[in-house]
Amino acid sequence: MDGSYRGRLAPSPTGYLHLGHARTFWIAQQRAEAAGGALILRDDDLDRARCRPEFVAAMIEDMQWFGLRWSEGPYHQSERMTLYIAAFERLRARGLIYPCTCSRQDVLRALSAPHEGEDEPLYPGTCQDCSPDRAREGVNWRFRVPEGETISFTDGALGLHTEIAGRDFGDFLIWRKDDQPSYQLACTVDDDDLRITEVVRGADLLTSTCRQLLLYRTLGYKAPAFFHCPLVTDADGVRLAKRHDALSLRTLREQGRSPGELRGGASSG
Ligand code: GLU
Repeated sequence: MDGSYRGRLAPSPTGYLHLGHARTFWIAQQRAEAAGGALILRDDDLDRARCRPEFVAAMIEDMQWFGLRWSEGPYHQSERMTLYIAAFERLRARGLIYPCTCSRQDVLRALSAPHEGEDEPLYPGTCQDCSPDRAREGVNWRFRVPEGETISFTDGALGLHTEIAGRDFGDFLIWRKDDQPSYQLACTVDDDDLRITEVVRGADLLTSTCRQLLLYRTLGYKAPAFFHCPLVTDADGVRLAKRHDALSLRTLREQGRSPGELRGGASSG
C-alpha cells in the first residue's frame, strides 16, 4: 500500500453508459482504493463518427451518480494525437506495420468499439508485403504478429491466460484509414504515458490484452498488471453489454433504481 498504484476508468462516449461498464469501473475503483492509489479518468473519444460531446457530459454525470470518483483527468484521447503519431512512426521505422487495402468490412470493424470487434476473423495476411513507405493517411495499417508465438500473462482475477499469435488473433489494426489510431495503439500508448500500473477491464478484452502485450514489448514499455472482470449477465444469461434496451444507467436511474442496489455483486475478488 505505498500509493504507487495507478488505475484507470476508460469509457467510450459512444452512447449512454451501461450497467456492465459501470460495474467494471466500480471494481476498478475498489482496487485503487484498497491499494491507496490513484484512479485516472480517460475519455476514449477517438471514434469521430460515434462519439459526441453530449455523451461525454452524460457519461461523467452518470459515473458520478453511480458513486465513481477519480483523482485525475479526464484525459481526452482526441487531444493526444501527437503521442499516437510518434508511436506509429516508431513502429513504421522498424518495419513492424504495413498498409492494408483490404475490404471495407475490415475498416468498419476497426471503427467499432473494441467490445464489438473482439471476434474479428484472423486477417489472412494479404497485404503483408506492401511497402510501409507511403503516407499514413488514407489506408489502414496493421501490426505483423509473431506467427506462432505464445503470449501469456497472469491475470489478477482469472489466473494464467495464454493465446497464440496468428492462431487466436491475427495481424491487427494500428492505424485507421480515417487517420485515427486504433483502439489497441491508443490504449497501449496512454496506459504507458499515464503510468497505469493495473488495467481493470471486462473479460471480453482478454484477446485485446494479448495484442497490447505485443505492443508494450515492441515499444519498449513496461506492461501493467491486468485484472479482467467476469462479464455480467442478466437473468436470462445475456451479457449486459450486448443488450441494447433498458440497461443504460440513465434509464435505470429514471426507473428509480439506486446506485447501491445496481452495484450488485460487483466485487474486486
Ligand atoms: N474505451 C474502451 C472501452 O470502453 C476501453 C477498454 C479498456 O481498455 O479498458 O471498451
